[in-house]
Amino acid sequence: MFPPSTRILIVDDIQSLRDLLKAYLRRLGYWNLLEAQDGQEALDILWQAQSAKEEIGLVISDWNMPVMTGLELLKRVRMVPDWKNLPFLLLTTESEKARVVQAVQAHVSNYMVKPIDEATLKEKLFKVWEKATKG
Ligand SMILES: [Mg+2]
Repeated sequence: MFPPSTRILIVDDIQSLRDLLKAYLRRLGYWNLLEAQDGQEALDILWQAQSAKEEIGLVISDWNMPVMTGLELLKRVRMVPDWKNLPFLLLTTESEKARVVQAVQAHVSNYMVKPIDEATLKEKLFKVWEKATKG
């Protein structure tokens, strides 16, 4: 499982959803949390973290956001050689589920359908970690 010190970037355009994710992650033992409200902001944070040698170990991103969507963020991330295997968990709504194939083709690590709950988040984190470590 991801070590407790893992830097996790939470990306969602809704503050209350970011707060909920932070609360769940803290309860699961994660304290090194960063947040962004859209894909562009997330990309900026990823680059800043990389240049500061404070690499982000997991991105949890909403799909539907203004400025830059989660799918677009995923595609941009995967274009960077260092981030080809960066764990990336995408949040979708039931109506977006049919489009998940696009995210799979863009090499998403896993996805989670909203509304989210702590138990499912934990299970998804475990799966993403296993995928990242076992390839
Ligand atoms: Mg959204």
